[in-house]
Amino acid sequence: MKVYNTLTRRKEEFVPLEENKVKMYVCGPTVYGLIHIGNARPYVIFDTIRRYMEYKGYEVTYVQNFTDVDDKIIKRANEEGVSTEVITDRYIKEALKDAEGLNVEPATYHPLATKEMPYIIEMIQTLIDKGYAYEKNGSVYYDTSTFKGYGKLSGKKLEDLIAGASNRVETDPDKKSPADFVLWKPKKEGEPYWKSPWSDGRPGWHIECSVMAKRYLGDTIDIHAGGEDLIFPHHENEIAQSEAANGKPFARYWLHNGFINVDNEKMSKSKGNFFTLRDIVADIPYDVVRFFILNGHYRSPINFSRDLMEAAGNGLLRIKNCVKSIKFHIENSEGDVMTANEAELMEKAASFKTEFEKAMDDDFNTADAIACIFDYVKFANSNLKESSTKAFGQALLDGINELCNILGILTEDAKEDTDTSEIERLIEERTAAKKAKDYQKADEIRAKLLDMGVVIEDTRQGVRWSYKK
Ligand code: AMP
Ligand code: ZN
Repeated sequence: MKVYNTLTRRKEEFVPLEENKVKMYVCGPTVYGLIHIGNARPYVIFDTIRRYMEYKGYEVTYVQNFTDVDDKIIKRANEEGVSTEVITDRYIKEALKDAEGLNVEPATYHPLATKEMPYIIEMIQTLIDKGYAYEKNGSVYYDTSTFKGYGKLSGKKLEDLIAGASNRVETDPDKKSPADFVLWKPKKEGEPYWKSPWSDGRPGWHIECSVMAKRYLGDTIDIHAGGEDLIFPHHENEIAQSEAANGKPFARYWLHNGFINVDNEKMSKSKGNFFTLRDIVADIPYDVVRFFILNGHYRSPINFSRDLMEAAGNGLLRIKNCVKSIKFHIENSEGDVMTANEAELMEKAASFKTEFEKAMDDDFNTADAIACIFDYVKFANSNLKESSTKAFGQALLDGINELCNILGILTEDAKEDTDTSEIERLIEERTAAKKAKDYQKADEIRAKLLDMGVVIEDTRQGVRWSYKK
């Protein structure tokens, strides 16, 4: 399995630290509002990578934090006249709801920065003791000049950063160098705070992730991931903190997803050009959003538009309709043993899985992996006949389901669309009308179903239905 490592800027063979185990940390959202569709991308991408690794037999420990102490959270709490916990509780719940909707498996651990304060203070103290950090007027800063590898992830040079920052108005006179960053800062009036040896205050953002990764995964982890906007300064600073404090390499593979853009600009809350996931799922189902995200390679930028979402919806429908008709076949046919010809066909079908794995082994090329599923669907549609055995239907279904489950795009019946009981009731009513030779009524019901987006087909095995394309 090859993964593109931002740290080395090339695709590398994935070798875990411990055989069959993967320790993975994914930076989570800052919880001051509903997540937008750009934030949904790392959720879906890294969940898919996790699923694929699990499919390959790795035991994955997956940590995704919530940043629950931040200026934006405090601002929101002040605007609403409530405490910051009211805001963070609310948006953590909402983020978890969205994650569930997107069929993202819960993380092994979902730590919160505010619950890790003693460990955060401990790591900052270690950095001071080892000479990597300094205190000034109640604040603690990381001294970037002390860490040899500073800039290795982002490719930035410390001199350039200092020169660049010096051209701007420096707002913090307590820093020794403009490239230094804050580990701890004193509270301002009305802000939440924690006691520390330096001041009543709160931690900087970067130190939180270094601490949570260490606490839940250890000093050295296999994969650290997030959106590409996090490469600098967040991940660069995490490396400086963790490697200085722990004296060991931090993460072996750094994975970053590309942006979701609107009109070729990054979708972000600060630019105001964002759509919350909730806005979108008011008329586009969550599973279509997931499918849309997986249709592009995770490192490429993707454009968001309703048309592209609709196209993704049609693609997903093709898979769903195929699965539905295979299930119909299984329910209405016989034959627990495949014929020799069917067994031969299934041998051919094995190549879809091989190709799928090849695509995923090549830095998780989900777009090509989806193309393999479409090939499988085409194969099933053209080879499943009314005369086929039940066993053949089941083998096709298992094959398609297995690949869909790795991408999390189709799960068992529980996830199948909405309630279909009304459709089934109408079909029964139509069958009864036909039996009673009331063909007018039967045609009316067919037309009504068509209005609902449902196409029916009379087969020798009974009535088969699917969603209109
Ligand atoms: P934030 O809450 O802004 O820290 O973002 C949470 C996660 O979403 C991070 O991994 C970001 O890199 C990622 N992210 C934010 N905006 C986008 C976007 N437009 N496209 C892709 N990923 C994004
Ligand atoms: Zn982080």
